[in-house]
Formats: sequence, C-alpha cells, structure tokens
Amino acid sequence: MSKSIPLSVPSFQGNELKYVSEAISTEWVSTGGKFVDQFEQAVAHYLGSSDAVACQSGTAGLHISLILAGVGAQDEVIVPTLTFIAAVNPVKYVGAEPVFMDCDDHLCLDADKLERFLKQECHFKQGILTNKHSQKTIKALIYVHVFGNSGNFEKVYELCQIYKIKLIEDATESLGTYFTSGKFKGKFTGTIGDFGVYSFNGNKIITTGGGGMLVCNDPMQAKRAKYLTTQAKDDEVRFIHHEIGYNYRMTNLQAALGLAQLENLEKYIRVKQDNYKNYRQAFLNTPYQLLPFNSNIRPNYWFYSLVVDPEKIGITNLQLMQKLQERNIQTRPIWYLNHLQKPYQCNQVYNIEKALYYFERILSLPCSANLLLEDVQRIMSAILGENDG
Ligand SMILES: *Cc1c(COP(=O)(O)O)cnc(C)c1O
Repeated sequence: MSKSIPLSVPSFQGNELKYVSEAISTEWVSTGGKFVDQFEQAVAHYLGSSDAVACQSGTAGLHISLILAGVGAQDEVIVPTLTFIAAVNPVKYVGAEPVFMDCDDHLCLDADKLERFLKQECHFKQGILTNKHSQKTIKALIYVHVFGNSGNFEKVYELCQIYKIKLIEDATESLGTYFTSGKFKGKFTGTIGDFGVYSFNGNKIITTGGGGMLVCNDPMQAKRAKYLTTQAKDDEVRFIHHEIGYNYRMTNLQAALGLAQLENLEKYIRVKQDNYKNYRQAFLNTPYQLLPFNSNIRPNYWFYSLVVDPEKIGITNLQLMQKLQERNIQTRPIWYLNHLQKPYQCNQVYNIEKALYYFERILSLPCSANLLLEDVQRIMSAILGENDG
C-alpha cells in the first residue's frame, strides 16, 4: 500500500520543542507565563492590529466577541449557512438566533443577497435594524473567510456600517490572508471588522493543539476580553467577581507552541501556494474545476476546493472521495449546511441556492504544509484515473 496522504496535518519544523520545553522547565504551563503575552504580541504585530487576546479555541473567541458586540437574548445575528458549525453555535450561547445567508462563488457570504435582505426584509429606524419577519433586532454579522478565501467583503463591511451591524470576522481559516487591492489593501482578514477571531486547532494553518485569538483595535474591549476569559476576576486576592466569566484563556504551553508555529507561517503559505499552483496546472483542460481564490487577496491557501460536477465527470464528490480513500488519499466534502442541521431547522433562511450547489459538489484536497510535489502528482493521477488498472 502506498503511503497515506492526509487531508491537513500540522508541521513542526521550527522552535516548537524548544519553546514548549522552556515552558515546562520553568514550570509555567497554565494561563500565566511569558509565552501567552509574547504570542499575543507576535500575532498583533504580524497582523498590524493593536490588540490580541489568546483564547482556548476559536469558538471561545467567537463567543466572547458576541458578548463584546453586545449581542444578547432576543437578538439576531446574520451568519453564513456554508461554514463549520462552530461559527454559528456561539450565537446560541448568548441566547440569540442566527439568520442564514447564502454563499457566493468564493464560498463566502453573498454580499448582494445580504443587501437585498437588509433592504427588503428589514426596517432600519433610529439606528436599529429590525427583522420584519421576527420583529427582532439584528445586532451582528459573522463573516467567515472560508478556506482562507474572501468574497465581496468590502460591500459587506459597508452594509454593516450603514445598518449599524457589528461585524465579527471569523478568520479562523484565514490567518495570513490579506487584501492586495481596494479599500482594505494591505489589511489582513480578521483585522477590519469590530472583532476578528483566529483558530489554532490542529487542522488550521498554524496550531497550538487547540487555541484561538481574538483581535480588535480597541484596547478597552481587549481588556474586557482578557477579563471575561479569565473568570471575570475583579480582585486577585479575595476572589471577587462582578460578572459571569469563562475559563477561556490560552495556556502558556499552547502559546509556546503557537509562537514557534507563527515563525513559520509565511513558509507554510509559500508551500501551500506552490501546491495550489501545481494542482491548478494539472486540472487545466480537465472537466474538474479548482475553485480560484479571489483576485483581490493574497490568500493563505489553507484549503483547496475541487468542484466535482457529476454531469461532467460521471461520479459524485462522495464517490471520488471513496475512490481516493482506496488509494490511501484523504479528502472530504464540504460541511453539511448549517440551516439543515437539527438545532437550526427552525431558523430563518434567505434564498439559499449556491450553498446547495457547492455543498453537493465540493471535495477538499490534501493541503498540508508538508505536502510534496510527488504527493500532488500521485493525487492527480488518482483523480484523473491514469494508471487506473
Ligand atoms: C475551526 C473553525 C472554528 C472554530 O475554531 P476552534 O478553534 O476549533 O474552536 C470556527 N469557525 C470556522 C469557520 C472554523 O473553521
């Protein structure tokens, strides 16, 4: 059997062991310790944002962002249906309800449909946006930069400004992606909205085992995020708490790993870009389409999305996945749509079309930062059926 090629695994080639060993030998392993501060500063510096707060997960960062955005019970939050469910669940953690939107051809929330929804399905009076259907206030929008890509984010941003919607960027998949033209030229995804959230889960572009980072350009909000993520402790000595807090702070061990990983981020992006180009070249003049990244960004190339159209290819994405599995190559379809998931079947949806189309066709291809050209070649011949015996 040929060597197995996983979908997305981490790569540890730098100072990971050195920093983690230092955390252990100095006996600072929990939420105190210098690596937490260093990692926060390094991420803020890389992104050019004023503040970064290290959390236990991206999900925790999203939860805290919603609290900081003032979203509470009886409110609504606009979310994409085509994304990992962790982008949506925190809306329910704060007692609010999601309203599901469609995606565009970059798999990100469709800005034009969002505009139609806001104009036709909502009232906007005295700075308050009310959903005509539910009579509830729409407070926030979670924009996911799916797979490191971005859609018409500028338009989404402008709509959020006009309608006074707090914009939370779920940049959990897009650390390293930045705009190369337009209003946000030079800015990283996750640093533009009111809050941005990154994830360092094991499958993300860099990992801390598990972890996240909440980023904003408001020192007061960052301070409050630190407070809420450390059990809202108001007096260190006497354990006085004026609010309900969370045990959401990143540990020094995780941060040590993250600091080492961040040092290699740009290297990982270069490898992933090379492999993207190799795939793209190989799929030219085939019935397959490798989804492009938006031309206005330098993507981080986190995940590669192959469109498998059964009408052209004769098999479905799931059948292709099976065929590749038999050759020890791991791929996977895109997430099951959130508005169809059991907890969300009663929530409002707005004209979902493209998400259904892509959901049935996309297959994510192996994309690890240690994927070799020969791996890509093996994957390509498995897909295109050469040497098919
Ligand atoms: C990974 C991910 C999250 C959650 O991050 P965790 O660190 O795993 O909690 C949220 N949203 C999206 C789109 C993700 O891919």
